Amino acid sequence: MSKALAREVDKRRTFGIISHPDAGKTTLTEKLLLYGGAIQMAGSVKSRKAARHATSDWMAMEQERGISVTSSVMKFEYKGHEVNLLDTPGHQDFSEDTYRVLTAVDSGLLVIDSAKGVEAQTLKLMDVCRLRNTPIVTFINKLDRDGLDPLDVMADIEEHLKIECAPLTWPIGMGQEFKGTWNIYKNELHLFSAVHEGKTQEGLVFNDVNDPRLEEYLGDYAAQLRDELELLEGAGNPFDKERYLNGEQTPVFFGSAINNFGVQEMLDAFVELAPVPKSRPTTTREVSPYETDFSGVVFKIQANMDKNHRDRIAFMRICSGKFTRGMKVKHHRVGKDIAIANATIFMAQDRTGVDEAYAGDIIGIHNHGTIKIGDTFTTKEELKFVGIPSFSPEHFRRVQLKDPMKRKQLQKGLEQLAEEGAVQLFRPISNSDYILGAVGILQFDVIVHRLKEEYNVNALYEPCMITTARWISSEDQKVLADFKDYYRSDLAIDAEGCLAYLAPNPWKLESAQERYPKIEFSTTREIR
Ligand code: GDP
Repeated sequence: MSKALAREVDKRRTFGIISHPDAGKTTLTEKLLLYGGAIQMAGSVKSRKAARHATSDWMAMEQERGISVTSSVMKFEYKGHEVNLLDTPGHQDFSEDTYRVLTAVDSGLLVIDSAKGVEAQTLKLMDVCRLRNTPIVTFINKLDRDGLDPLDVMADIEEHLKIECAPLTWPIGMGQEFKGTWNIYKNELHLFSAVHEGKTQEGLVFNDVNDPRLEEYLGDYAAQLRDELELLEGAGNPFDKERYLNGEQTPVFFGSAINNFGVQEMLDAFVELAPVPKSRPTTTREVSPYETDFSGVVFKIQANMDKNHRDRIAFMRICSGKFTRGMKVKHHRVGKDIAIANATIFMAQDRTGVDEAYAGDIIGIHNHGTIKIGDTFTTKEELKFVGIPSFSPEHFRRVQLKDPMKRKQLQKGLEQLAEEGAVQLFRPISNSDYILGAVGILQFDVIVHRLKEEYNVNALYEPCMITTARWISSEDQKVLADFKDYYRSDLAIDAEGCLAYLAPNPWKLESAQERYPKIEFSTTREIR
């Protein structure tokens, strides 16, 4: 291990933001980029979104709906750290991509609207984080509005997200009466001042909660603050870094993203506390980020949004070593060497060619469908990273072709789109239907649109009687054969040849599970 390499790895913080739509993720992202010097003016993130929409047809659909279907990567520097922020679409019709992005990060930032508490989308995303015990920092937003009592918001998080809360800042008043926050971590008071121009904020700082001048600024809230801090000290959870890193406890910050209040405090603590890139498991061994040989894994494929370029971008997380432009790497699934000359690194605003990158960084590789999700690239040893899963879909449609002559194109299109991870394709054992499964229903519209644009196939959907899918496996081949016989009409093979049980309703799934205790019904499947 070289010292220079270790220094680079230790600088990196790769995280994803988790939130329910409207909690303030975009606003907060913008403020973070502002601190990172990646943008000069607030408002740029939104305009970047708009510019992106204008470049493609199928994304126009997104524009119409005013939502974001794709996730992106933003890199910025902050106080000597290299921060990689992976965005996740917030709309409820988000895709499986969103889940998978969370397998490529080392930690997460949870944004909660203080008036709403834990919402549906947050629950789902936290489930994925829990699969890998991802450490989570929490930002409770919109304190400039009347919201729930801060203790109640934390109780809500603890109850529904099953993670202990340790407040590192504490709000004083809220809404019209929002006075600021007390930084428990540093023992400082930050007085609230609305900063709308997108400048970085410097709050007024006190160092002692018993300072009598507090009354001058806070009035009656000073006494309330002292009481609450005492209460927290007695009954609250003290922050425990080990528990945070194990995903058992979340440090909590309060603020107002739109007013750029509390954001820097959170970011400062974040870069200090959040984990550096972790080791990642392969089928044969753990790979440490400090290993000198390069390795990386693809966790997301995105079709080029520019109609004139029909290529795709594979998003690769670097897992070890150093990447340099033009580097020759082995593409293990295919058994070929490729030179990566055209890798893209995603700086906050522009995509620029990448000269070098390290573990934790995300690079984009242009390709024409040769790269699949889960593919591993290394310079030497043959490895296969694990832990990039498929998630069982929650919505299903049967595909119908308007022109039966186009069956071949349809098959090709669906197979390629399934490989991209945009949707899952199931072929029932007992008939020749095409069943699509998706985690969010918006994916179905995207698929029909792309089938037409990219494969010249007019397809439409029929509803189908499927509510849940589970991947099926068993050590006992005899039981498996018996199961296949019994449930033949509900079984299908997915795009990677794996057996799936498509349950017409939850009760039937339950009864199948009871009838066949030796069969494993999985909600996730490793991508091969
Ligand atoms: P996203 O859907 O999570 O990306 O949320 P946005 O960042 O787009 O914010 C949703 C809405 O909440 C927008 O109208 C924001 O202006 C507003 N918002 C964001 N942060 C705050 C805040 O701190 N206070 C208030 N009052 N509104 C906020």
